[in-house]
Amino acid sequence: MDLRSNEPYWLIKNSFLKSYPSLDEALSTDILVIGGGITGALIAHKLLQEGKDVVLVDKRNVCNGSSAASTGMLQYEIDVPLYKLIDQRGIKCAVSSYKNCEEAIFDIKNIIDDIKSKCPFEFKKSIYFTTTRKGIKDLEAEFKARKENGFNISWLDREALKKLGLDAFAGIESKSGAIIDPFKFSYDLLEFCSEKGMQIYDHTEITEIKNDGKRFIAKTQDEIPIHANHIIHCTGYESIYTLREKKIVNLKSTYAIASEVFEELPKAFKNHIYWDNSAPYFYFRTTSEGRIIIGGCDENFRNAHKRDSLLSKKQKILTKQFHKYFQNISFKADYIWAGTFGETVDGLPYFGRPNQDINEHYILGFGGNGITYSMMARNAIIHSLNHTNHRFLDDYRFNR
Ligand SMILES: Cc1cc2nc3c(=O)[nH]c(=O)nc-3n(C[C@H](O)[C@H](O)[C@H](O)COP(=O)(O)OP(=O)(O)OC[C@H]3O[C@@H](n4cnc5c(N)ncnc54)[C@H](O)[C@@H]3O)c2cc1C
Repeated sequence: MDLRSNEPYWLIKNSFLKSYPSLDEALSTDILVIGGGITGALIAHKLLQEGKDVVLVDKRNVCNGSSAASTGMLQYEIDVPLYKLIDQRGIKCAVSSYKNCEEAIFDIKNIIDDIKSKCPFEFKKSIYFTTTRKGIKDLEAEFKARKENGFNISWLDREALKKLGLDAFAGIESKSGAIIDPFKFSYDLLEFCSEKGMQIYDHTEITEIKNDGKRFIAKTQDEIPIHANHIIHCTGYESIYTLREKKIVNLKSTYAIASEVFEELPKAFKNHIYWDNSAPYFYFRTTSEGRIIIGGCDENFRNAHKRDSLLSKKQKILTKQFHKYFQNISFKADYIWAGTFGETVDGLPYFGRPNQDINEHYILGFGGNGITYSMMARNAIIHSLNHTNHRFLDDYRFNR
């Protein structure tokens, strides 16, 4: 067994791909993107396609924030089940959010192909299951809501799940799901942008933003100014430091383990990914080299030290839970890591301008579908820049 690591598995697997220089002279651009994770990469790539003049900066090496820690499951199923989201946000917003997340999975695959990335990506069916009798009622309500709204799903009873190797009472199988290496994807997208001429800077932290009435002046930690007409914050969970509205996200500590490589993947994992309807939930996927990743065991985030001090306790809980669900599969941990994660009340993201009068935009894909949300935001960003209407800028507005 390899040594345990608190570094996310993707960083170790891909090792150090390439770094960008830090900024050492004043710049002027139309659009400054702050943050080079999966969101910044997807947004920057979209702006490049639209012919915009863009500079992207990150205070770390790019792709070293949450996007490196992510377990990279792509599902259209949002943290809040569809039947509950319909009650919370109305049928139009709820169903379109589910449908757009589904479309985003295929859009991500199209981008991988377009930029000729070698990023591992596999389509998988996704099973949402329950291990309690009480949970069956929730699952039935969810099944009904999804069927009524045209999702391609099947009901799996206990026997059907047992045949797969999962000990659970019932499950909903969705045909659209996928797994991705989120680090490699973000990295490849940024490299593509850089090769097309975009200026990207690592270790360039924006510490101050002022507006002289016409343009922004964003200053780095070394007081170097970047002049821009628009600023797009793709700063993930650290956005709470710059946003006026602090209460839009509930931060959690979350944990993941990657197993040793299986010579042959167990039947349960050949075509499926899984998540359960417990709270906090557990989820399971494979990697292209034949590992199983278990994630979950969330708890309220207090600080990084407290989060990381729980790693070995969480490893035991995650492994125990896996063996409870998949009794015939022996899981041996190889890597464990923790990350910070955020949930919103309705499970939906925040896109657009917190203040309609200012050209400052945020793309915050908070929630278990963070990656699909970041993909969806590409459809809305030009509208946010141009101040034109788009359904996402309304459904996922600030102050909602
Ligand atoms: C353990 C874990 C598992 C997850 N699993 C899934 C999953 O299976 N599926 C899914 O869809 N989502 C998942 N997520 C969520 C998903 O990873 C996130 O939604 C996504 O990575 C967010 O990307 P981002 O680019 O917005 O943020 P980040 O990747 O954190 O990027 C933000 C960047 O902004 C930079 N930055 C911040 N402030 C500044 C500043 N002032 N100046 C310059 N740069 C700055 C940071 O350095 C960082 O690189 C998971 C998250 C975690 C932690």
